[in-house]
Amino acid sequence: MANNFTTAKYDNGFEETACEICGQSSRKVVAKRTDLLLGGQDIYFMCECQECESLYLTPRPTPSRMAEFYPDEYQPYTVGVHAESFLNRYVRRYGLKKRYKIIEKYVKQGDLLDVGCATGDFLAEVTLQSGWQVVGIETSVSAVRYAREQVGLNVLVSTLNQASFPKESFDVITMWDVLEHVYDPCVVLDEVGRLLRPGGIFVVNHPNLDSIDRYLFGRFWAGFELPRHLYLFPTKLLNDLMEQRNFRQVERNCLYGSHAGTSTSLRFYIQYVFGSGVLSKIFTRIALSKVARILSVPYFKVIDALKMGSNVTAVFQKQNLNL
Ligand SMILES: [Zn+2]
Repeated sequence: MANNFTTAKYDNGFEETACEICGQSSRKVVAKRTDLLLGGQDIYFMCECQECESLYLTPRPTPSRMAEFYPDEYQPYTVGVHAESFLNRYVRRYGLKKRYKIIEKYVKQGDLLDVGCATGDFLAEVTLQSGWQVVGIETSVSAVRYAREQVGLNVLVSTLNQASFPKESFDVITMWDVLEHVYDPCVVLDEVGRLLRPGGIFVVNHPNLDSIDRYLFGRFWAGFELPRHLYLFPTKLLNDLMEQRNFRQVERNCLYGSHAGTSTSLRFYIQYVFGSGVLSKIFTRIALSKVARILSVPYFKVIDALKMGSNVTAVFQKQNLNL
């Protein structure tokens, strides 16, 4: 969705923008790189807002051009967890169960909305528990078709704001790796505030600007994910934005994805150092092997305990103003 912060549009389908969060344009470039995930020669600039300290992409693809950066083979849109091999299914479900457990600590049952649900893996995990009515929204038509036809879920092709759910429809709203992809985070957070019931929780997993990977890998850090990541949030900024909407942070932990994040950053770095030849393939295979993963378990345990994993999950609870 376009917003009022666009300051210039170019013929190539890109636009300049001010920071949507504070409306200011003063910024400095903190990462400059190509699309390391899908390839291409265009260079993107992740900037830090000098006013509110958010990080944002400018120039960025316009919403109509952005679709080409989300092809059907984009990893979150590929086959769901139930179609995986036994071992992969076990590992992925372990992560999904961890996501559910964080919710269960605050809300035991009710109405749950997963924003950007992709093929519906998390929703499917929730439906295995009793007492939940779940709905998902997702902008990828192919992912929605899969979630409906292969997993049997109630999923809509929509953004959060276009879905127009009635006020206070949900007890839980989840955004797993989604908020950083939206053009208008403040508008989206306003809608979260409108849709949750008092006492309900908003669970948001997002790239961790305090992660060790950001400092180790610099511009190769997977959290930048240019040009698909449009905004990145420092801890204090996201807390302030939610407090302005009558939410209180009740938890902030590195819950999952630290290994995947570091693996991706490492792969990008190896490709930069060794190119795309045999040497690069050998090092990548070693770094991403199952043995390396097992050996690195203690490292990630420590990193996660220090809340310095590549991603972080924050839980915000909507306050009851009538108490
Ligand atoms: Zn700002």
